[in-house]
Amino acid sequence: MVYETGSGPVEALRDISLTIADGEFIALVGPSGCGKSTLLRIIAGLRPMTSGAVRVAGEPVTRPLTSVGMVFQAPVLLKWRTILDNVLLPAELAGHDARKYRDRAMDLLGIVGLSDFASKLPRELSGGMQQRASIVRALLLDPPLLLMDEPFGALDAMTRDEMNIELLRVWGETSEAGKRKTILFVTHSIPEAVFLADRAVVMSPRPGRIAEVTPIHLARP
Ligand code: ADP
Ligand code: ADP
Repeated sequence: MVYETGSGPVEALRDISLTIADGEFIALVGPSGCGKSTLLRIIAGLRPMTSGAVRVAGEPVTRPLTSVGMVFQAPVLLKWRTILDNVLLPAELAGHDARKYRDRAMDLLGIVGLSDFASKLPRELSGGMQQRASIVRALLLDPPLLLMDEPFGALDAMTRDEMNIELLRVWGETSEAGKRKTILFVTHSIPEAVFLADRAVVMSPRPGRIAEVTPIHLARP
């Protein structure tokens, strides 16, 4: 993957070959600038590739997919919309009748403890609560694949630990029996990767390549 910039081409990714199994939780780790965000954006269909191919559930990715939920480092909420209306956004963008998703949105907000905040504006919530709302928004259309780009990187250590536990709980509660969501989770934190993931994919500095794929053996509820 090559970016064209004013000062010439920047090769961000090279020789990336990765297969993620259904229901797997993968931690993507590597130094700043190694191409983790680029890889996530490509998989989400948010950025065209200059070479290569990506398939999600067997389908080639050529545009942003509703089967992919994305969570960014900072909560990206529209500040003039209530939490509920922010959570409903993916339904609107996909051209669905948002009213039909209201009950699901409220259920999801309940799972992350935000029932009482549905009609509040983002600025009335803490950073951690806003990020929970962003995760709920990514789950609204029940995408089988969730891409998370350092979702807790901006939070303090204690909130981050809480959010890790919360994420595993939400992951369990929002997936149908025996059908867990597949998650690709970017993090700088090895403890976080070990706590959350089934496998860690370690990338080397730019141009990002896969240096190592490590299974993490951990009993999890
Ligand atoms: P990471 O998420 O691992 O920090 P990024 O995917 O953000 O890495 O960036 C990988 C490389 O590509 C970096 O060298 C970065 O400067 C470059 N890059 C990222 N986005 C762009 C862009 N839109 N245009 C040009 N270069 C970019
Ligand atoms: P697009 O045209 O798809 O919006 P851009 O190339 O304008 O993409 O940039 C996308 C994001 O990447 C922007 O946030 C931009 O600031 C950032 N970006 C651009 N160039 C670089 C770079 N060399 N390194 C890191 N990030 C970059």
